[in-house]
Amino acid sequence: MSYRHQWKNGQSIGLPAGKVVCVGRNYADHAAELNNPIPSEPILFIKPGTSIVSLHEPIAIPLSKGAVHYEAEISVLIGKILKNAGRTQVVEGMIGIGAALDLTLRDLQAGLKEQGHPWEKAKAFDGSCPLSCFEPIQSFSTLNHIDIELAISGVIKQKGSSDQMLFDIPSLIEYISTCFTLMPGDVVLTGTPKGVGPLTPGDPVQIRLCSHFAINTLVVAESA
Ligand code: ZN
Repeated sequence: MSYRHQWKNGQSIGLPAGKVVCVGRNYADHAAELNNPIPSEPILFIKPGTSIVSLHEPIAIPLSKGAVHYEAEISVLIGKILKNAGRTQVVEGMIGIGAALDLTLRDLQAGLKEQGHPWEKAKAFDGSCPLSCFEPIQSFSTLNHIDIELAISGVIKQKGSSDQMLFDIPSLIEYISTCFTLMPGDVVLTGTPKGVGPLTPGDPVQIRLCSHFAINTLVVAESA
């Protein structure tokens, strides 16, 4: 199955799926639940293109690698090259908003953190980045009140809004562009609110992005 970026209406966006740049601890309440300090600048990491799958398909998790946690996040699709970008360039460079899961091998991550090692093995594995279709950014009157919600079996586990972010979406992308050049087709994940937890095969998962869309999917075990 090859992944392609799509608009909500099913049309192909015609951009290659590039890298995914993610931010850790962008909501104070999530930093607190994992006993992490509040960062003074964004904590960044990258998921490669091979981590991207469609959020509209069942979520396949690698059961042999310990707990796999969901982290529901607002995603931003980049449409222009952004390098050391100012605010105007960033505003013009964002073309779509969607929902994403930053799947995390939490046991493995805890071990890596303890040893002071990078997180990649826990965050960048194949299938670790389910992405939804994108809503054109023009459909959003503001980026400061986008709500994201994740429910399992009808029980709401995560509920957050972009107004709770420590670094708002444009500031975050400005900052990222000083560290890594963002290319058309790259995606930025903007951090997760509190309420993260493990996924189990059979879990029905619903992810909602404001009133823009709701995705119903199912967790399955990754086939060997
Ligand atoms: Zn995350």
